[in-house]
Amino acid sequence: MVGSGIGAERGILIRSGEAIQTFKDVKVMVLDKTGTITRGEPKLTDAVTVEGVEESRLLTLAASIENASEHPIARAIVEGAREREIKIKEVSDFRSTGARGVSGKVDGESVLIGNRRLLEEEGVTGLESLDKTMGELEEKGRTVVIVATEGQALGLVAVADTLKEESVEAIRGMHKLGLHVVMITGDNERAARAVATEVGIDEVQAGVLPEGKVDAIRELQKRYGDHVAMVGDGINDAPALKQANVGIAIGAGADVAIEAADVTLVRGELSGVVEAMHLSQATFSKIVQNLIWASGYNIAAIPLAAAGLLHPMIGVIAMTASSLSVIGNSLLLKRQFT
Ligand SMILES: [Mg+2]
Repeated sequence: MVGSGIGAERGILIRSGEAIQTFKDVKVMVLDKTGTITRGEPKLTDAVTVEGVEESRLLTLAASIENASEHPIARAIVEGAREREIKIKEVSDFRSTGARGVSGKVDGESVLIGNRRLLEEEGVTGLESLDKTMGELEEKGRTVVIVATEGQALGLVAVADTLKEESVEAIRGMHKLGLHVVMITGDNERAARAVATEVGIDEVQAGVLPEGKVDAIRELQKRYGDHVAMVGDGINDAPALKQANVGIAIGAGADVAIEAADVTLVRGELSGVVEAMHLSQATFSKIVQNLIWASGYNIAAIPLAAAGLLHPMIGVIAMTASSLSVIGNSLLLKRQFT
């Protein structure tokens, strides 16, 4: 009770007494990528122009056109431009070419934004000068779109799902606890590796289908025994959270995930995992101490009382003292976490 109370104060909701006890034995921490290690929504990360073009011009045209689109990548570009205090202009003749790109007119200038294939098909020139940068950005797992005006490439903008601020620190904390940290994701190998290297993951399982996550947990349980914990946020994580020995849900995630989990991190930050582990260890050592204290009293006093060597009044006092020492010692746990 004291342990889960301390957890609750810190935004770590522990559903069962069992979870607090199994947590300390966890050896493998499996982390979902999107929404758990990363924010789960794309952000504008790069804007690169061809020679002689101002970055503000590139962003003005890109954001003005994308402002007419509802696509998450478009929203990330508009949001990123606003953060850089770019003024967004009126667009006319907006057209969306399926998933491949968008076009329209800004200040009477025709603008085309899309992937390299689309722009090549449309006969845009100057694409070669962007190829090297584009390759590098894609290597890092970013999504790149090229901006062209009047058939001439101006530059490119890249968006990517970005890391949560605390992820690197939290994973370092997991390593300090001696945990083997595994990242599991449906993304392709390249995008997954990019994130894994950045945060310091030990093992990556990429291209895992939602239903494959449960099998991945089972396989790890075969390798490491029943000491596998999993952190996730989405509906597709729920079965794996149930299968794991300790299921941990990110608070901002799906209700189903929270329902399936033993522990919920209300603040939505991975650092809660490290705190929960410390809490579980401290709580368990208190339980052991209490057991020693309480049985100590009984082992010493019961034979004496049975032999008639102990006044009943002292027996009453000893019984009460044993209960009080258990409660008092438990409450001392709070001191360790202030
Ligand atoms: Mg997720």
